[in-house]
Amino acid sequence: SLIKDLSEIRKEFPVLDKVVYLDNAATSLTPEPVLKELIEYNRNYRANIERGVHHLSKIATHRYKDAHLKVAELLGAEEEEIVFLKNTTEAINTVARGLDIKKGENIVCSSMSHHSNILPWQRIRDQKDINLKFANPKKGTVDEKEIKKLINEDTKLVAISHASNVTGSLNPIKSISNYCEEKGAYFLIDAAQTAAHTPIDVSEIRCDFLCASGHKMLAPTGTGLLYVKKEHYDELEPLSLGGGHVREVTLSNYSTKDGYEGLEAGTPNIGGGIALGKAADYLREIGLNKIRDHEKKLTNYLLRQLTEINEIEVVYPEVERVGVVSFYIEEIDAHTLAQLLDQENVIVRSGDHCSQPLLRQLGYDKLVRVSLSFYNTLEDINKLIGSMEDILRG
Ligand code: PMP
Repeated sequence: SLIKDLSEIRKEFPVLDKVVYLDNAATSLTPEPVLKELIEYNRNYRANIERGVHHLSKIATHRYKDAHLKVAELLGAEEEEIVFLKNTTEAINTVARGLDIKKGENIVCSSMSHHSNILPWQRIRDQKDINLKFANPKKGTVDEKEIKKLINEDTKLVAISHASNVTGSLNPIKSISNYCEEKGAYFLIDAAQTAAHTPIDVSEIRCDFLCASGHKMLAPTGTGLLYVKKEHYDELEPLSLGGGHVREVTLSNYSTKDGYEGLEAGTPNIGGGIALGKAADYLREIGLNKIRDHEKKLTNYLLRQLTEINEIEVVYPEVERVGVVSFYIEEIDAHTLAQLLDQENVIVRSGDHCSQPLLRQLGYDKLVRVSLSFYNTLEDINKLIGSMEDILRG
């Protein structure tokens, strides 16, 4: 195995004794050390942050802040550039609603995106009377030439995903980032499907915003993150207003705090945030390069096995991708297959994967999706393939 002590690591995910978990693109599992961090906060030093002078609040404040630093280290960012939010959806909405986009400007996104990287831009288009342009994919992947045709001097922002949650295909983010810089457009990356699976360095990519879901990165549900290049904080209105994130309030006006604190209104998910910091450390300890290599090896094996089954149509088996593979079988409904696999304790996702525009372009209404993590093994894939063969031949 490319990952040292994988069998030891798997013990930290006790549910793996009971199931073959292949729905990591929806949400990951949480290892015991991350869970312990969440419980410790709630059990031993639970308090609100930034509000009290008592010692519990001081510990909680310190650990919550430190968690931002840990996530920043994972992504090559600075501590003050990481905002903790609920999920990727909230992160994208924070940028869509918070950025000052003026009439006459345009936004470029892609029809291959998850709904949460389409709908927020549709609403802004309708509210602010701006132009919204969709780059159509080739083989589920944003085409460089196509998207460059859409970006011009009036483009305020380009918002695409790092990898597709349906086909797993990786978009050419570096080249798009360079082009955005040339044209003076902001660049937002939805890294929901990559943050726990490939090394990411925002300073190397040179993006302006990056969004991810903590819950897909070993952290508890209800956690997510937004990277904001620090010079843009002044241009972002918080999604919500209230307590905790303000500096001064009078009856005629208010001012908000600098940096991420200004965008985290109200009592945040403190224990979840602290656990997200631990999850970032956990991923770094294994090493994102090793995770990527291990998952690549598993993905290639999975693709080989799937393409050998006659009935299965894999969606773009040939593209450069993360460990996400979707397929179609004419003989059996996607949900039925997922249910039958579930009876064998093999957990996969079925449906439209919150990507109806892409599925429509591909000509499917539902697909079955298998998505991997570093804790998966070749045996997991053998179990999946064996169960599918039984279902199809049985
Ligand atoms: N973007 C992509 C690419 C995703 O895969 C997902 C989750 N399936 C999301 C956005 C939304 O994430 P969340 O539900 O955590 O907001």
